[in-house]
Amino acid sequence: RATLVDDEEGGVLFVSAPPPSSSSGFGHSSLERQRQRLPVFKYRDAILYLVENHATTIIVGETGSGKTTQIPQYLKEAGWAEGGRVVACTQPRRLAVQSVASRVAEEMGVKIGEEVGYTIRFEDQTNPSVTVIKFLTDGVLIREMMDDPLLTKYSVIMVDEAHERSLSTDMLLGLLKKIQRRRPELRIIISSATIEAKSMSTFFQARKKDLRHAAEDSVPSHLPAVLSVEEPAGDILVFLTGQDDIDAAVKLLREDTQDDRRRTSGLLVLPLYSGLSRVDQDLVFAPTPKGKRKVVISTNIAETSLTLEGVVYVVDSGFSKQRFYNPISDIESLVVTPISKASARQRAGRAGRIQPGKCFRLYTEEYFLKEMPTEGIPEMQRSNLVSCVIQLKALGIDNILGFDWLASPPPEAMVRALEVLYSLGILDEDAKLTSPIGYQVAEIPLDPMISKMILSACNFGCSEEIITIAAVLSVQSIWVSMWGAQKEFDEVKLRFAAAEGDHVTYLNVYKGFLNSGKSSQWCYKNYLNYQAMKKVVDVREQLSRLLRRLGLALKSCEKDTQILRKAIIAGFFANSCHLEEYSHNGLYKTVRSSEEVYIHPSSVLFRVNPKWVVYHSLVSTNKHYMRNVIAIDPSWLIEAAPHFYQVRTPNLAPC
Ligand code: ADP
Ligand code: MG
Repeated sequence: RATLVDDEEGGVLFVSAPPPSSSSGFGHSSLERQRQRLPVFKYRDAILYLVENHATTIIVGETGSGKTTQIPQYLKEAGWAEGGRVVACTQPRRLAVQSVASRVAEEMGVKIGEEVGYTIRFEDQTNPSVTVIKFLTDGVLIREMMDDPLLTKYSVIMVDEAHERSLSTDMLLGLLKKIQRRRPELRIIISSATIEAKSMSTFFQARKKDLRHAAEDSVPSHLPAVLSVEEPAGDILVFLTGQDDIDAAVKLLREDTQDDRRRTSGLLVLPLYSGLSRVDQDLVFAPTPKGKRKVVISTNIAETSLTLEGVVYVVDSGFSKQRFYNPISDIESLVVTPISKASARQRAGRAGRIQPGKCFRLYTEEYFLKEMPTEGIPEMQRSNLVSCVIQLKALGIDNILGFDWLASPPPEAMVRALEVLYSLGILDEDAKLTSPIGYQVAEIPLDPMISKMILSACNFGCSEEIITIAAVLSVQSIWVSMWGAQKEFDEVKLRFAAAEGDHVTYLNVYKGFLNSGKSSQWCYKNYLNYQAMKKVVDVREQLSRLLRRLGLALKSCEKDTQILRKAIIAGFFANSCHLEEYSHNGLYKTVRSSEEVYIHPSSVLFRVNPKWVVYHSLVSTNKHYMRNVIAIDPSWLIEAAPHFYQVRTPNLAPC
């Protein structure tokens, strides 16, 4: 069952073995026994041999086999982390970084942030003098190259979850290949959960799995019904698409479970998505209380990045939320999309890790066989490339099309990215970073439009306010989920609502939070997420330090919201929309491409519908919804971007 390929090109190792039997009990020695029961343990020597002898090693192993948590420890045990060297392991997702780092720290019996640490954007839990195993997002590792282009402190870099083909993973792999030419001693491990069709069968035979397809007419609204099916004990993992529908499902199920007469009364219902607070994360991983059945409702984060012990049943909605970018309209949106067969198999694989399990697919077998795409599309080919281009430029890679891409990005998207960066004044006519704007934008670990907004605020004299706004926009959502309670939510928002729109509203919320003495009680009363608000304060502090380091002034505009909105427009002028004159249902059209869009119900301007607005981002379900919206005067657009807009009576049009 194990394949070991050892040739000139590099080592490839397939790890495949029966799942470990479950074990109860705690303590260090029992953790040690658990470690030795993991499938990857049998390959410990083989892995170390391959890493010793090859610059690049590829490891393919099913989820839960121990790749992420064990291999960095093996490397450390074998001496790869001695003499000031560090073993790095990257993940596409922040939540996975935190979670696996804690697990490894626990297994090693050390405190997180010491020998074992992690770094995600705006959160560094490492100690440079003692950290020897470091988990980080691939995006953070790319950023580290800006200070240390050859990543000299790392002896081994494990690029984990490579099958996900995230934009940053693809970029990182190309960059590492370049580094390796200059640093032949650097070891790279690429680890992935997908196995091609042939080995896939071994993968499935390794355990008994009972795949059940829904009847022809099944739709996700049957969820509670499916979950109340009487099945023997075992936790349930449900794959939905995003925070909104997960919160909705959690609420529905919790209401249902409150009724003791219902068959669902023994359920402990928990959400799982990135942006979840630490406390809620811990609940997901904690052992299921006796007599209860845990139901974890998750995004595709639980598909391969995280392993939940005790899951016996999987419910697969067949959808996930994916980024999609249209270079013609320049619209990037999160879209609920059917998953690929590869994903469906991964999801099914989460069932029955410790005993035979079942997977309930909420789509038909025929759909699975005939219509579901075999593989997903790499993120590189469906993303806005603005951040990617600016990072490569900052790393001195000028010929971006000639870069060693794993999958070439679409030329239209590349051209559009260059155009946008040019219109923002970040690139010059020769497509080189401008000085100082371009270089400063590259230093700020945020979306270039946000970074440009911050830099402009420094000129306008409203940087104190803008960094608060930037901090709020960088956290998932500051409101607690109010699914199904739109009326209450509207009332709560009224306490803070500013006529100018969401950005200014956030300033009121932030002020209120500070005035309350950063009180959790106050947050509770105002339906605000206390953890998110603490994060806002923390990110804001980091941004203010960053600006000081860049030699930029922090200044407040007091109550001048016009200046504030002009600074926002300096970054987001391309996202302008006007209300359709005869529209009674709040239909807007983007100035840029006449795309039809609506204000999202979570916005304070929902139903207010000002004539002209600028939005921060779009979410798409059946329609495009603008999230985080401000009302503007169209003349400000021309003022901010004369090269981008021209006046055409009666309307404004892009050049
Ligand atoms: P892989 O990377 O191959 O998917 P991991 O190294 O993440 O596997 O996980 C290996 C095993 O470690 C899992 O099967 C599980 O038993 C255990 N494990 C991982 N994370 C946790 C956690 N947070 N809590 C409890 N057990 C965990
Ligand atoms: Mg893993």
